[in-house]
Amino acid sequence: MALFSSENPHYKYNRKTLKYERIDNTYGYHIRRFLRVATLGILIGVGVFVLLITFIPSPAQKRLAEENDRINSQYQLLDRQLDEALRIMSIIQERDDNFYRVMLQADSIPTSIRTGNLSHTARYDQWDEMRTGTIVKQTSQKMDQLNKMLYTQSNSFDELVQLAKEREDRLQHLPAIQPVSNKDLKRTASGYGRRIDPIYKTIRFHKGMDFSAPTGTDIFATADGTITSIGWKQGYGYCIIIDHGYDYTTLYAHISKFKKGLRRGSKVSRGDVIAYVGNTGKSTGPHLHYEVRYKGVHQNPQNYYFLDLSPEEYDEMVRISSNSSQTFD
Ligand SMILES: [Zn+2]
Repeated sequence: MALFSSENPHYKYNRKTLKYERIDNTYGYHIRRFLRVATLGILIGVGVFVLLITFIPSPAQKRLAEENDRINSQYQLLDRQLDEALRIMSIIQERDDNFYRVMLQADSIPTSIRTGNLSHTARYDQWDEMRTGTIVKQTSQKMDQLNKMLYTQSNSFDELVQLAKEREDRLQHLPAIQPVSNKDLKRTASGYGRRIDPIYKTIRFHKGMDFSAPTGTDIFATADGTITSIGWKQGYGYCIIIDHGYDYTTLYAHISKFKKGLRRGSKVSRGDVIAYVGNTGKSTGPHLHYEVRYKGVHQNPQNYYFLDLSPEEYDEMVRISSNSSQTFD
């Protein structure tokens, strides 16, 4: 039998019998020999396997690597989109600081508050250990920066809305129309400044503006406010004073009749009829004498018709009112 014969028989010296005895014809020898070969085979097999899995990626690893690549390129894309978003955001900030905030007289917001300093925050450091960590860190930083900018911008707009409301209220209380209907400016009689007194014929300072109009013509409140004086006033005849708040008052003089129901303390809105043109007090003909005061100081009324007049009409009014050398008082 092949198991017990060999072309190169193995012998072993037996000390007891003092003879060489053939040993490759026993079962034990063959089992040991088989185990040796098998062990070697397994070791080589394991070695090759380890080499394979170390250097040749498995399908799962391949898939992971592919996914990794795709995530990486998606991050690159996000990074570029964030750059664009940040660019647009800074244009909005610039517009906010140099236009909206200027317009509403709010201070500009310092860059340090708008963007914060996010670049040295420790929570980004974890990404430094990763091979593709740089791009993750970069996009995270940019995203945080964008969030911070949006938050500040949103607060800024809230503040501006509030300021605009106050401003709107202020504007509503600022004298801004003519006190009589004067579409073709024909009623513009005489302006503010040094004029000849119609009665004494001497040079006097005319503290208001005169509008010639037939007795009974509507007189309008030129801004929202409260009537603080309504009645007879020496020189002014029947006269109304409106306090508009924000340090502005207006005065309407030589009235023939007050609007029914109005008294001291009555609230009026811009455009409300408050009285009718007349010729009471020191007056040389039916007209309205109109004054604007700011902090108690007389202002030139022609600067307070900006809701009423176009720039051309304004120029024309200035021309007419300064040409007439005599007032109606
Ligand atoms: Zn006058």
